[in-house]
This record gives sequence, structure tokens and C-alpha cells, in this order.
Amino acid sequence: MDRKLQVVCDWDDGAVEDLTLSGILRKHGAKATFNLCSSYLQGFVPQNRNGLQFMDKEQALAACQGFKVANHTTKHVSLPHVTMRDCKDAVIRGRAELQDIFQQDVKGFVYPKAMLDRTAVKVVQQAGHLYGRGLDSFCQTFTGGSRYTVRPHVNVRNGKFWKAYDEAKKGTRIFWFYGHSYEYKCTNDWLNLEFLIHKISKDPDAEWKNIEDLPWSV
Ligand SMILES: [Zn+2]
Repeated sequence: MDRKLQVVCDWDDGAVEDLTLSGILRKHGAKATFNLCSSYLQGFVPQNRNGLQFMDKEQALAACQGFKVANHTTKHVSLPHVTMRDCKDAVIRGRAELQDIFQQDVKGFVYPKAMLDRTAVKVVQQAGHLYGRGLDSFCQTFTGGSRYTVRPHVNVRNGKFWKAYDEAKKGTRIFWFYGHSYEYKCTNDWLNLEFLIHKISKDPDAEWKNIEDLPWSV
């Protein structure tokens, strides 16, 4: 018999809504990775992020309890648009500060705004990450691409979510979705999300995995 569908998910940016999200994930036994910016946790207030509110250190420690944390740079830095020095600082210090705060090995990296170039990929790799994630379409790594330019299959709010889920069962048997908790505005949004998480947890042909435990060597 084929192995079960390995389902992984990650959530970007560390908005305060992650506190609600993590409660839902925990309730249904889901595994997840939170992609965080270390400076946000330490009081840095970003401009031009549409008034979003981000978790402080204590909130993030509570939200991420039992989950994995991945590096999303110090301040959500668009890596191709800064100097080499700033790129290295955003990536290397971002990882080090998260490891210090969460006391866990931070293995994942997610490119802010999915912006990456050859230099950024190299810096992420050399900083000791296991993978670097961009955005959308298909999971390159498990179909032969570099693990530093891996992409999830689909956004959690994409209308083709279940189609992609079923296709993954027939294909690599790995399914990776991502999302942003700040996109959940009302009770109905949260109920829809909880239904989705619950449905995956109840699927006898699927199991939750952590991203870092995927078969990366394949
Ligand atoms: Zn982001």
C-alpha cells in the first residue's frame, strides 16, 4: 500500500491572529511551522504593512508552543533589494535571534514577499538552513528542484485547495499549504479554517508532518 499523504503547512509573518490559529491547529493535532521575523518579536514596528499587528516575544512563545519556527528574516527584508551585507544580516541574525528566543534549531527559511535571487539563495543555504521557501504552484524540491527554492502547492484560501490535495495523493504524496492568519477576519472565516484542518486530521489516507521531516534527501 502507498504511504499516507504527508500534509505540511506553514504560516507567514507572526501576526497576532496566530494565537487563534495555533489554538485551532493544536485542538486538531495538526503540525505546523510559523515563519517569523525576529525584530517584530522584539518591538520593531514595521511601516507599510497595512496596520497589521504582530506578536511580541511572549505571545509568539505561547502561539508556537509545540510547533516549529522558521526564519522570515529580521524585518521582512526583500533580499534582492538590499546590499549583500544587509542580506546576510537579515538572514543570519534572523535565524540566530529566533534560535535564542525559541531554544530550537531553526531549520526553515521563507523568502519575504517570495523575492529571491541567486545571491539570496546562496546566503540562505550558507546560513545553515535546511530549505528556502518561495511561493505557490508546485513543490519543486520533491519533483527534482533545489530545496532552497521550494514552493508550497497552494494557499490555504485558494479555491482549488481540495483539488490540489487530491492531486498530491496521486502524485508525490506530499502536500504543502501555506497561509496568513491575518486574512481571517470574522467568525465564519475561522470556522471554515477549522473545518479544513479537522477534515485533514480525520482523513485516514493522510498524516500531518513537520516540513523539516519531509524526505528532503529524495
Ligand atoms: Zn511574509
